[in-house]
Amino acid sequence: MPRKQDSTPRPYVRTFWRTAIRGRCPSCGKTSMFDGMISIHERCANCDLRYQTGPGEWIGTLALGYTIGAVVAIALAIVELYLSPIRDAGLHPVWTIVIASLLATLIGYRWAKSSWFALLYLYDFMAFGDAPPGPGSASAPPRGTGSR
Ligand SMILES: [Zn+2]
Repeated sequence: MPRKQDSTPRPYVRTFWRTAIRGRCPSCGKTSMFDGMISIHERCANCDLRYQTGPGEWIGTLALGYTIGAVVAIALAIVELYLSPIRDAGLHPVWTIVIASLLATLIGYRWAKSSWFALLYLYDFMAFGDAPPGPGSASAPPRGTGSR
């Protein structure tokens, strides 16, 4: 999606740290996006940024979550092919890799979700209040909503 004609750099590092790693609001960082282990609030209680942008946003989370599982499975398979630590430990290599990959997907799901929402914020798929998402809409809160 094209960005507004300005030279302001996107806050990649800050958003990655604040949202993808810590699960905080990508705009203000003062509240957690999550209201449970993996479910998120509809909007930020502090700055009114709307996290939930529409149906289908879970697809990105799922893709990132499966990517985590796939990376773990491929890494374990490569290590097993060259060093065979799983077979040496007396375990079945395929089942061990499958189970480790599923566990990594489950454990990494929250980070996959927060990373996906960080990307949605960075690429202007979030907006404040009831404004439609679009270029620049999430880069600055509308007047009067920041101090609620
Ligand atoms: Zn906020």
